[in-house]
Amino acid sequence: MSKLLIVEDNKSLAKMLSIHISKTSGYAVVVAHSMSEAIAAVQKESFLAALLDLNLPDAPNGEVVDEIIARGIPAIVLTGNLDENTKKLILQKPIVDYVYKEKFKDIDYIISKIERLEKNKNQKVLVVDDSSVVRNEIKNYLSRELYQIFAVGNGEEALNFYKDNPDISLIITDMNMPIMDGLELVEELRKITTKETLSIIGISGDSETAVKFLKMGANDFIRKPFTKEEFVCRINNAVEALENIQQIKQVSITDFLTGVYNRRYFFEQFEEYYKEAVELGTHFALATFDIDNFKKINDTYGHPAGDEAIKMVANAIKSRVKGTDIVARLGGEEFVLLLKSVSADDALMVVDSIRSEIARSELKLKNGDTIFLTVSIGVATRPYNSLEEMMDASDALLYKAKTNGKNQTVTD
Ligand code: GH3
Ligand code: MG
Ligand code: MG
Repeated sequence: MSKLLIVEDNKSLAKMLSIHISKTSGYAVVVAHSMSEAIAAVQKESFLAALLDLNLPDAPNGEVVDEIIARGIPAIVLTGNLDENTKKLILQKPIVDYVYKEKFKDIDYIISKIERLEKNKNQKVLVVDDSSVVRNEIKNYLSRELYQIFAVGNGEEALNFYKDNPDISLIITDMNMPIMDGLELVEELRKITTKETLSIIGISGDSETAVKFLKMGANDFIRKPFTKEEFVCRINNAVEALENIQQIKQVSITDFLTGVYNRRYFFEQFEEYYKEAVELGTHFALATFDIDNFKKINDTYGHPAGDEAIKMVANAIKSRVKGTDIVARLGGEEFVLLLKSVSADDALMVVDSIRSEIARSELKLKNGDTIFLTVSIGVATRPYNSLEEMMDASDALLYKAKTNGKNQTVTD
């Protein structure tokens, strides 16, 4: 569990904040009432972030902020009043954000901000600018947000870097650069990416360039000159938008009950793989699973127990295949498994070991009942004339397994 440090000398406020944060987030909270307590705390354990009061008995002028940042902990300033001077003073320091301490709505914002920081650790950002001053400034802004930052000096370097690191989620690019400018870079990147797979933000000095960036396929632009606050907000928004799209995409290809892929995604992937495998002459196998006497499980123990049985079978299949193989729920209590580049013998061995493992397992229900279940499996391993013929063959083999007495694997 990640920990947050709250440093606040007003004990009742500190307690209230701590209770509110532990209740509304998954974070553990440690409270310190002075700078010396805060330093002792960070020497003892590690923190994801710290919320800091600027006026402490042993640090009346925000000294705690520097102490905490010097130890590599992202700092969020807790403030009571925020006149222009205080704000200026705060923003000069390399803090992550500031928040009004009496407003719990602000505190909720901070929690989401901290969650953002935690996710940022997995996000790779590439900065493209020919000026090392600008590159370093942006790097500074974004490393405080815990992003993994990389920087290059022109479009060509950026393109090559992206090709070697396709897990980069955001590219921030300047317009005018030698060798390949920002616009050409966006054009090249969009030949191999979409707005949903890679977010691109152009930095521009005028609205004409901004429009060109957008028309070329950039997700957004930032106008020069920009404040640190605006810059960081826009970058965080872009990354969040990308994460949301990816989450929706994940939901759209996943079976809700079991977490394995759904039917639609399976056929998409199978079609793609089928073509490729036929072209290269790769051996592969297609197995269709169906739970035996499933209706009886539903009738005897109820529908929720039936759901548990379906989940158990899904996990049994998933845990015994390679990451490259594809497991999907076709519907009801029927599953399909695509075993990539595998011999007929190996496919049969893997699939039948799944069958015997399920037959050996017990499914314990919440009410104490124990269910035993079995599955029947058809495995198509030979070359067929089409994907449809292979699916039909796998299904016919499954039917054979059922008529032969169930709890068995039949292959061609
Ligand atoms: P066989 O051994 O020949 O496969 O017989 P069976 O009883 O397993 O097969 P049948 O196709 O007759 O019954 C499947 C049942 O699965 C009927 C349906 O109500 C139930 N079912 C379909 N989807 C779900 C689900 O998501 N959850 C649960 N609990 N039951 C489902
Ligand atoms: Mg069945
Ligand atoms: Mg069925």
